[in-house]
Amino acid sequence: AKAAGRNRFSYFTPNLQTAALARLRLNNELRSAIADKQLQVYFQPIVETDSGIIRKAEALIRWYQPHKGWISPLEFIPIAESSGQIHAIGELVFQESVRWVSQWRKTIHPDFQISINQSPVEFQNENSPYTGWIAYLEQQGLPGQAINIEITEGLLLDADNKVASRLIGFRDAGIQVAIDDFGTGYSALSYLKKFDIDYLKIDQSFVRNLSEDSSDMALCEAIIMMAHKLGLQVVAEGVENAEQEQLLRSAKCDFVQGYLYSKPLPASEFDHFLRQAASK
Ligand code: C2E
Ligand code: CA
Ligand code: CA
Ligand code: CA
Repeated sequence: AKAAGRNRFSYFTPNLQTAALARLRLNNELRSAIADKQLQVYFQPIVETDSGIIRKAEALIRWYQPHKGWISPLEFIPIAESSGQIHAIGELVFQESVRWVSQWRKTIHPDFQISINQSPVEFQNENSPYTGWIAYLEQQGLPGQAINIEITEGLLLDADNKVASRLIGFRDAGIQVAIDDFGTGYSALSYLKKFDIDYLKIDQSFVRNLSEDSSDMALCEAIIMMAHKLGLQVVAEGVENAEQEQLLRSAKCDFVQGYLYSKPLPASEFDHFLRQAASK
C-alpha cells in the first residue's frame, strides 16, 4: 500500500506550470466570488479566561465556491495577496465587522471588540485604508477600541517608517494591536520594546499538546510572564479541551479562543450564540 501511495503521489504531483494555472484560475474565481458576494465573514469568540465572558470575536473570512465547496483562507489569502484582491477582502471584513460590533456593543456588552487580521501586504499598502477606517468608525459613532488588528511578527522585524507611523496612527485612534501566531517564525523580541503592542496571541502549535508536552507548557508560561511584565495581555489560540483551558488558566493567560468555546460562526449564528451566553 505504501508503494502504491508513493506512485500515486509522484503521478499527481503537478508541475510548476499547472500549479501556476491553478492559482490563476482560483484568482479569477475569487474575483467573481467577491463580485457575487460569495465571501462571508465568520466570527469566533475570544473568552476572558477568569470570568468566562466573551469579550471579543475574531473575524475570519470564508469562501464557499459552488462547484468546489469550501476553500480555505490558507489557500486563497496568499493568492489574493499577490493579485491585490486582498484589499477588497480586507474592506469587506472591515465593513462587516463594524456593522456587527456596533450591534453587539449595544446588545451584548458596551466594550465588545472585533479583532481583524491584516496581512503584511494589507498593512504596507500605499493606499492603506487606515485613515479611512478611523474616519468611518468615527462616523458610525464607534471608538477605535471597538476594533483590534492582528498582525504578524515579520511585519515588525523589518518595519520601515511607514509601518511605524501607521502603527502609531492605529494606536492614537485607540485601535489595539495584537501579534498573531506569536512564537512561530522569529526569535527577535526587540520589536516588543520598539512598538506599542497590546496583545500577544500564542500560536496554536504551542497549545495543541499542552497537557502532554511539558516544554510547550514551559513556553506558554514564559510567554505569558514576559508579556505581563511588558504590560501586554495574552490570548491563547486553538484551545480544544478543558485540560488545556485549565493549564492556561493556571499560567494566568488572559484570554482563550478555540473550538472548546465555538468554531467560527456566520454572523447571525454568532449573534444567537452571544445572546444565549449572555443570558446564562
Ligand atoms: P489565524 O489568524 O491564525 O486564525 C486562526 C485559525 O485557527 C482560523 O483558521 C480558525 O478557524 C482556526 N481555529 C480556531 N480555533 C481552533 C481550534 O480550536 N483548533 C484548530 N485546529 N483551529 C482553530 P482559518 O479561519 O482557516 O484561517 C486561517 C488563516 O487565514 C488565519 O490564521 C489568517 O492568517 C488567515 N485569515 C483568515 N481570515 C482572514 C482575513 O479576513 N484577512 C486576512 N488577512 N487573513 C485571514
Ligand atoms: Ca488571527
Ligand atoms: Ca493565529
Ligand atoms: Ca496566521
